[in-house]
Order: sequence, then structure tokens, then C-alpha cells
Amino acid sequence: MYTLRPGNWYVRYVCQGCKTKQILFPDLSNGTARIKADYVVTCQDCGHQASYDSEVIERYYHPVDGDGHEGDGKR
Ligand SMILES: [Zn+2]
Repeated sequence: MYTLRPGNWYVRYVCQGCKTKQILFPDLSNGTARIKADYVVTCQDCGHQASYDSEVIERYYHPVDGDGHEGDGKR
């Protein structure tokens, strides 16, 4: 399981088994790189293994909260 860092981008997918959002890996390109691959991964929550491609993989920006300049409204 990755620790999500505020202000970082991640690539994530929705598990076919338990329908939860799972982090695939940190996106070091800050959301700019194109994904053109299939990833076979095992869900951290339910253990369901499946392959996910660019159709279902999405980018996730983990919001910065606590120091004021970016965020999702939480304090
Ligand atoms: Zn799952």
C-alpha cells in the first residue's frame, strides 16, 4: 500500500472484485504521461487479480490540505 503524499499524482484503478479505488503506482509525470499498457495487479483489499488497461486506469491528484494553498476544502 502506498502512502499518499499531498500534492502528488497517482495512477489508480477500480478493483473489479470489490469496486474500491486502488493506487497502482505514483505518477511521477504529474499527470502528463499517457498510459499505454496493461497492468496485472492484485487488489490490496480483496486479493482479486485482474488486468487493467488505459481505459479503466485514471489519474488521481492527492490534494494538499493543511497549509492553505491547495486542497479540497478540508481543514
Ligand atoms: Zn478488490
